[in-house]
Amino acid sequence: MDDCLFCKIAGKDLDAEIVHESESVVAFRDINPAAPTHVLVVPRRHVGSAAELGTSDGDLLGEMFEVMTDVARSAGIEGGFRIVTNIGEDAGQSVHHLHFHVLGGRPMGWPPG
Ligand code: 5GP
Ligand code: ZN
Repeated sequence: MDDCLFCKIAGKDLDAEIVHESESVVAFRDINPAAPTHVLVVPRRHVGSAAELGTSDGDLLGEMFEVMTDVARSAGIEGGFRIVTNIGEDAGQSVHHLHFHVLGGRPMGWPPG
């Protein structure tokens, strides 16, 4: 996807503060953090949102969740953190490339806004 922001970050065509990367997954700091720790975890290949995922993505998702827990451990927030993915504009999705937000380092309210 030529004009996809997160494809560009994953492909190193756009700078980001990358905290982890593998063949399939990239994790980088959110440019506008909503918590002391706010990291985005994305697949390297373009997936529009979590609504496009299925059983054939099990390995990718397993790796993404491992990365998210590693990110939380590295940040010292393994005692409590939140994973969020917005799907569609009504839920606040602004970048249409699947990403999980890993948030922590402050008390988290519930329900989310
Ligand atoms: P969404 O609103 O789609 O759930 O989340 C998109 C996230 O991407 C937002 O939290 C926003 O701050 C972040 N973001 C948008 N543009 C950039 C960018 O160019 N670099 C980085 N690192 N994060 C971005
Ligand atoms: Zn993309």
